[in-house]
Amino acid sequence: MADSEFGFELRVCAWAEQWPPDGDAASFVARQLGTRNRRWDTLVIEVDPDALRRRADFGAERLDSDLLHVVRHAPDDWQFYRDALPHPGYPWRYVREAVHRASDRDVVETRRDGNKIQLRRKWAYPDWVERIVAIENKPDLDASAADALADQLERDVALGLADEVWLATESDGDGVERALLTEMPVEAGILAFDGGEASVEWHPRTLAAEAAGTRITERPSGGEYDQSAARFEYVDADWKREKRLEIAERAYERGWRSYLDTMRPDCRHFDVERGEHGYLPRCRAKNREQTAAECSGSCPEYEPEPPAWRQKEWPIEGGPGAAIRRVLDARRSRER
Ligand code: SF4
Repeated sequence: MADSEFGFELRVCAWAEQWPPDGDAASFVARQLGTRNRRWDTLVIEVDPDALRRRADFGAERLDSDLLHVVRHAPDDWQFYRDALPHPGYPWRYVREAVHRASDRDVVETRRDGNKIQLRRKWAYPDWVERIVAIENKPDLDASAADALADQLERDVALGLADEVWLATESDGDGVERALLTEMPVEAGILAFDGGEASVEWHPRTLAAEAAGTRITERPSGGEYDQSAARFEYVDADWKREKRLEIAERAYERGWRSYLDTMRPDCRHFDVERGEHGYLPRCRAKNREQTAAECSGSCPEYEPEPPAWRQKEWPIEGGPGAAIRRVLDARRSRER
């Protein structure tokens, strides 16, 4: 059983690398990604493997929305950028900046024709994202957590930004509390984890990710004194399409092992242990899994690894922190 929600989340991510639970699909996993209003714990991006290989031409860093606008519409042959790219709905000077950034990143070619900037593509941007699966993690499901989650998942279903939404929870050995699970929207799938393995308690429905969605902006409590109506806003299909690609791009850049970027693998107490499906961080000082929030420079037990560890080429090069980072970074790029 995981020591914390963070530990549970990492276990779900490690397990999800064998996605899907039944079937076959090329995919990779990321964590803590979404939109300004909604962040999911775990995301599985199902991909077209050939197209994903072609995506690698554009580098390991994500392409943000402005860069995507440039690379997706860059022409085969030289053209003035304003003639080649559709009007983005914001001033052209921002597009020009994005064209320069894209050129600096070496993902398009540019040249000057008088004072006009021309561009042409280096590669066609591939259609590499097949499906996005969002998983909300809640190891200890109690009545109030179930209420909040049911509300959140209903919002996810109404918006339909992901193709599937799931709840992942920890099995208590006799099966998860079924009464609580019945509160969840029927469209959401349910995964019950027992140790490092998961069983599907409920299969999700595929959401209309390509169609327009509905954002629930206000929901009355529905109590005796609250007769107000829920408020909704319409979300068009184009916005969803753009947002899905931006999310997938961020997932491509980060993967789920990026937790190392915000933790302190350079602390002498930082360790990793092998779980069922991958490495998980562990603090030797606390003698348990540490959370990402507590594993920081402000941790009272933080101690930098001694310089001698680094200089003595432990065990091959650098201290344990450097070695751990190398192992997890290598796994991160391999999964990508
Ligand atoms: S002592 Fe603190 S900083 Fe060091 S590994 Fe443990 S939690 Fe992280």
